[in-house]
Amino acid sequence: MKVLYRFIMTFIAIFVLTACSKDIKINPEGENVLDTAEVESGLREKEETTAVEEQNQESNVATDNVTDGKQEQIAYPYVQELNIIEDNYRNYYEIFVYSFYDSDGDGIGDINGVIEKLDYINDGDPTTDSDLGFNGIWLMPIMPSTTYHKYDVTDYYNIDPQYGTLEDFKTLLQECDKRGIKLIIDLVFNHTSSQHPWFKEAVAYLQGLENGEQPDIDECPYVEYYHFTKDYEGGSGYHRVGNTQWYYEGMFWDQMPDLNLGNPKVREEIEMIAKFWLDLGVGGFRLDAVKEFYSGQKDKNIEVLKWFTDYVASLDKEAYIVGEAWDSKDAIASYYESGIPSLFNFPLAMYNGEITKTARRLGPATASTYGKNVMLMLAKYQENNPNFIDSPFISNHDTTRISAQCVNNEEQMKMSAGLLLTMNGSPFVYYGEEIGMNSSGDKDENKRLPMQWSLTDQTGMTRKPSNADLVEQKFPPVDEQMEDPLSLLNYYKRAIRIRNENPEIARGEVSIIEELTNEDILAIRKVYEESEIAIIYNIHTEGANISLEDTDLDGYSIRGYLSVDGSEVSLENGNLYMPKYSIVILK
Ligand code: CA
Repeated sequence: MKVLYRFIMTFIAIFVLTACSKDIKINPEGENVLDTAEVESGLREKEETTAVEEQNQESNVATDNVTDGKQEQIAYPYVQELNIIEDNYRNYYEIFVYSFYDSDGDGIGDINGVIEKLDYINDGDPTTDSDLGFNGIWLMPIMPSTTYHKYDVTDYYNIDPQYGTLEDFKTLLQECDKRGIKLIIDLVFNHTSSQHPWFKEAVAYLQGLENGEQPDIDECPYVEYYHFTKDYEGGSGYHRVGNTQWYYEGMFWDQMPDLNLGNPKVREEIEMIAKFWLDLGVGGFRLDAVKEFYSGQKDKNIEVLKWFTDYVASLDKEAYIVGEAWDSKDAIASYYESGIPSLFNFPLAMYNGEITKTARRLGPATASTYGKNVMLMLAKYQENNPNFIDSPFISNHDTTRISAQCVNNEEQMKMSAGLLLTMNGSPFVYYGEEIGMNSSGDKDENKRLPMQWSLTDQTGMTRKPSNADLVEQKFPPVDEQMEDPLSLLNYYKRAIRIRNENPEIARGEVSIIEELTNEDILAIRKVYEESEIAIIYNIHTEGANISLEDTDLDGYSIRGYLSVDGSEVSLENGNLYMPKYSIVILK
């Protein structure tokens, strides 16, 4: 027996190694490292990564259930008419332009590359099912910058030359418009680049002062654009100006000086910048690092958010603003006092977040606790802003990817995606999440790797950010997953389709159907404008038989379902069968 066991294990190991050798080929290149949220995310991510990697070692073989791509085509039953409402409840796709698609062969993704791949995101044709069906896009920073990630802006009124031109961007906006896609852009005004003209002028001016001479704001107003001080008494976040006695605040990095957001002139500048982009046609902004506007001073941050939200609303009531407050649900609830339309729901995301924790049934996580926790969380947010729209997500450019969170367990990844894409609000999907792209360790570059379009056709393939490692990809690229009806990609597509058929999913008032809910099963109701649906989740590795007879859902029928392995959900004579990890929409 032992010999046979060893033989089988060796065979499996060889198979896995061979499968993995199809990895991406990547060219090295030299550039900068830091990203805005790195400081705050560092610790948390380290914890996550360690846990994930420990488990990785144990379960590499057991969970490496990459689809073999040979399944029969399955036509989805229960396809309904699309019912897309043009409001601010949308399905967003987060794009790191650098790593998405390269249109001109220099190895760096660009705006024209995004345009070339828009049909993948949404082709604007309701009769096709070859696109993912997103109707919102968030572009990570696109303005001129000194780094690959571009979170340090040197010019707020242009497109980074690596990415293209303002003309390219206008074309992108037109193409998005044709497809009903709202395009929002990253706006970074907690800090600028140290190479921004405002900062350079301020520094040159201070360096030209005689010893002991006080700065004259009429001579150089930019001195008050930042937090310069001579009274620096040690501690982190401050950096010296050359050989002078002056210091400046740069919480994230010495190359990212923090703006003085209390200065009315700085606010005027930011208003002009926001107006410039709104006039071009962007649909809103993702606000970077809102916790650090005044680090550690939540009330002042809320005031900044309120000022910015009110200003943008005065120009465009339909603009979507989503803030990055990487914090607890209580803190996020406080930030909603500003009236900001949306904030990312960090407590749902990442390795320890409600979503993957529930899909993996980690520790005390059960179907019913998930339902209760999410309800409580959303109620808290709503208390402070009745019109809030949640922005749930699983992973983004600062976190481990979903594949690492679920240790490459494809069924758990699908269950996570299903939980995300049946949430209220505007869910955000990070590029590559839909094909199970991998991340590795703490290094930000390893979370922002080239989109895996194809292994056979290298057209448009970007090269990796310079400090990225060669990270093994466990799941096939886009072109292969497109052909496989049971792929993760097709699961995402089906989930978004169901979302686009049922406006109640994003907008409905939620209540838990207690009589059907237990550790493995969560049943909820969503009511939107007198239309009511129910969603039932089976968060278990085995199928479940559920009798709807004599319950609130007696007489309901199936509108659609999500299944991780092609098994069918069925409902006959009040008996609902749900295969493992399935989700059904009833009406
Ligand atoms: Ca390019």
